[in-house]
Amino acid sequence: MTIVDGFYTWNKTDPRENLTTHFSTAEFTCNCKNLSCKEQKIEVKLVAKLQKLRDQLKKPLQVHSGYRCAAHNKAIGGAKNSNHVKGQAVDIQSLVKILDLPKFLEEYDLYTEDPTQTLTWQHLQTVVPKSKKRIFSP
Ligand SMILES: [Zn+2]
Repeated sequence: MTIVDGFYTWNKTDPRENLTTHFSTAEFTCNCKNLSCKEQKIEVKLVAKLQKLRDQLKKPLQVHSGYRCAAHNKAIGGAKNSNHVKGQAVDIQSLVKILDLPKFLEEYDLYTEDPTQTLTWQHLQTVVPKSKKRIFSP
C-alpha cells in the first residue's frame, strides 16, 4: 500500500494491510471478480473519518462497499459518475438509528444519499454533491 495524492492505493492481489487502527485494505477492495480489476484506491481522509466515527461509537462499523472499478460499478447499477469509482465514497451500515445524521454529517464534513432510499446501508462521500446538500437525492 502506498499513499498517492491523498489516496491509499494498493493492488487487489496484495495481502491485506491495516490503514488505521480498525480498518484495512480488505474492507475497501472492490467486490468484483473481474481480472482487469487491479489497482484499488480509497481516500485517506475518508478512512480517517470512518476511524473517528468508529472511535466515537466504540463499536465495529460494517463496510459494505468501498472502492469500485468502473466495470463493477456498472454491473451493480451504480451511478454513472459514482464517487465509489474515485475512491471517495463508502457504503456502511445504516446510521439513522444510532446517531443524529444531520449533526454527524456537518461535524464530519460528509455527504449522504437520502437514507429513505438506502434503508439497509448508508452512503457516505467526501465530495460535495451538485445540490450542495448534506443529504442529497442520488
Ligand atoms: Zn472491480
